[in-house]
Amino acid sequence: KMGRKFFVGGNWKMNGSKSSIDEIVNFLSKGPLDSKVDVVVGVPAIYLDYAKSKLPANVFASAQNCYKEPKGAFTGEISPAMLKDVGINYVILGHSERRHVFGESDELIAEKTAHALENGLTVIACIGEKLEEREAGQTEAVVFRQTAAIAAKVSNWSNVVIAYEPVWAIGTGKTASPQQAQEVHEKLRAWLKEKLGGAVAESMRIIYGGSVTAANSKELAKQADIDGFLVGGASLKPEFVDIVNSNQ
Ligand code: PEP
Repeated sequence: KMGRKFFVGGNWKMNGSKSSIDEIVNFLSKGPLDSKVDVVVGVPAIYLDYAKSKLPANVFASAQNCYKEPKGAFTGEISPAMLKDVGINYVILGHSERRHVFGESDELIAEKTAHALENGLTVIACIGEKLEEREAGQTEAVVFRQTAAIAAKVSNWSNVVIAYEPVWAIGTGKTASPQQAQEVHEKLRAWLKEKLGGAVAESMRIIYGGSVTAANSKELAKQADIDGFLVGGASLKPEFVDIVNSNQ
């Protein structure tokens, strides 16, 4: 993983309150967090400002979504410009819940990604196959299609982290085995090399998400093409510190 800084994101999803955020801030502040790791937490939009004001300096707050336009008649949405305005530099886009609960298409996610990058955000772009797609042998085709949609709209990939999150592993307690995850990461990196060139492929952080816990993160972190994690449920608990430190 020469030169790729380990990246661990937490995704709080639609969870939390000021008081529970205070508790998370406490264990993150106590850490200690490996200084060789980029640590980011995905915060519900309404708490971004609050979380940012409380988090330690080595943990960055990320939005969980944003829209593809800077402003206008888009009730309920927030823009990358607004995120930048309140000092937020990261956004998670294309999470499986956005795709499958809210019906976001590959194309919309690509448009959002392009717009967020143009506005100076770093994007955690999520991809991953559903169980029936894996069982039908379509895992690679799905992951390549989702990435290709983004590649059609994005040329500078330096502020992108790709999160491979098999949908069947998210929130289910069914983690991909280290070998299953490594296989997809390796094939995706080869695809990136073929389509976008060696420099993009070599420098791209490809992180894994799907029921990552402190009990399975060390083995996953040993895989050559796993450059970190996106963590849902366990990011709300003190074990998130151990997951951050699992590459040691
Ligand atoms: C996620 O929300 O990105 C995720 C991987 O969730 P969990 O860790 O709870 O499976």
